[in-house]
Parts: sequence; structure tokens; C-alpha cells
Amino acid sequence: MSFPDRWDDGLDPSTPEHQVHWYDDRTAIIRQSLRTNFEGPFLYLLLGTTHALLLDTGTGDVPLRPLVERLAGVRELVVAHTHGHGDHVGGDPEFPEAVGRSAEDVARYFGFADWPNGVRQLDLGGRVLDVVAIPGHHASHLALYDRDTRILFTGDSLYPGRLYVFDWPAYRASIARLGEFVAGGKPVEWVLGAHIEMTAEPGKDYEMGADQHPGEHVLQLRPAVLTELIDVLAEAGADPVRIERDDFIVYPV
Ligand SMILES: [Zn+2]
Ligand SMILES: [Zn+2]
Repeated sequence: MSFPDRWDDGLDPSTPEHQVHWYDDRTAIIRQSLRTNFEGPFLYLLLGTTHALLLDTGTGDVPLRPLVERLAGVRELVVAHTHGHGDHVGGDPEFPEAVGRSAEDVARYFGFADWPNGVRQLDLGGRVLDVVAIPGHHASHLALYDRDTRILFTGDSLYPGRLYVFDWPAYRASIARLGEFVAGGKPVEWVLGAHIEMTAEPGKDYEMGADQHPGEHVLQLRPAVLTELIDVLAEAGADPVRIERDDFIVYPV
């Protein structure tokens, strides 16, 4: 289990369009190069025995399906999204099997009877993911917990960068619920989001739209960072407020 020393930071024009790193032999982390789109989103491919889950399809600026098919092998592909923003669903035209983008589509697919409450499961064959609805950054936002690796995938709701909050009450409630889910017996090894927008210098982010990230913050966050987010949101109260921390910036919009 490992992370690379450095992700494609947009500085080297000779890097491939996607950087693939195997965290373990069933978990691929894919970064779409900042050269192809300044968002430089992270995508995840999780392999079970029968199915492979592609979590997010990137911005759509570069072909993705051939890479995913090569990595997934004979497994049946499940394509879902952390949420419906364009930089995470842009590759969907290559994946007609992708789950829809609206909260209604996502609730129906995963079987949420009382969205966003409850926890659903996705079984990839010997590998079960828990699915938690966490609207706030986007109405259809999900967090996924991998029981095997104990990785919590948090999309654009928690990553080292600007956490844009479009619906403050929903976001606060969602992060609190995610905290309860974890506290209820789901130990987290790493929190992995969908972007890096912070530098390695505590609290310092890149300019918006920067397509070069010299000296990036690492992707992986310790579970203490989730606890920190839960705490600062609880303290913040009902009115939206910008909160700058070492590893993230809560950014109401
Ligand atoms: Zn987003
Ligand atoms: Zn995004």
C-alpha cells in the first residue's frame, strides 16, 4: 500500500494524460494531468472479483475508456460518480453504463429510500463498499467507504483544497452524518478526495485555475482531518463562514 512521491503537477509536458498509481493490487488511483485540464481530478478504479468500480470519469478532455478497460480486465464495469459536476462526469459519453448525475438517479441506483439518510452497499465481488449520501457541495454527492482498505473516498467534499459549499445546512448535516458513520465502527486509514489545491505549505492554496502545481500537498489525508472538519463545522454554526486550516479551506459560495 503506497502513494507516489509526487503526482503529475503539470510542470512536465512529457507526462501521460493519466497518471496511474496502484495503491494496492486492487486499487488504482488515476490522476488526470493538470496539462489536460486545470482541475486535475483524481479518479479511482476499485477491483472486486466480478466487478470493477470506476469512481468519476474526469473532465472529458482526454480518452479514458481504453485505459479503464485495460486496468479492469474481464470484470464488469460499474461507473459511478462522487457527484455530478462537469469535472467528474465529463467522460460519461464514453461510458453509457454510468449512473445518472442527479440525486434522484443516484438514490434510485443505490437504493436509498430516504435520501440522504441511510447507508447503502455496493458489492464488487469479495469487496464491499458502503455508500453514504453527503449533499452540500453538490446535491448528488456521495462518500464511499472501502471496508478492505479502510479508505474513505470523499470527492469534492473533503480534499486538500477549497471545499466549495453551495448548500451550507446540507453540507454541515452531511459531514456530521459522515462522522457518525465512521464513529459507528468504520475505521478510516486514509481520506482520499478528488483534487489537490493546496501547496505543501500549511494553509496555502494555489490560485484558482492554476494548471501547474509545484510543491503540491499530498493527496491522502489522515482521518484526524475529517474529525477536524466535523469540529470546525460544528463550531461554525448556521451561517456560512470561510474557514482556513492547514489541510483544507471551507469555502462557502
Ligand atoms: Zn465538484
Ligand atoms: Zn471537482
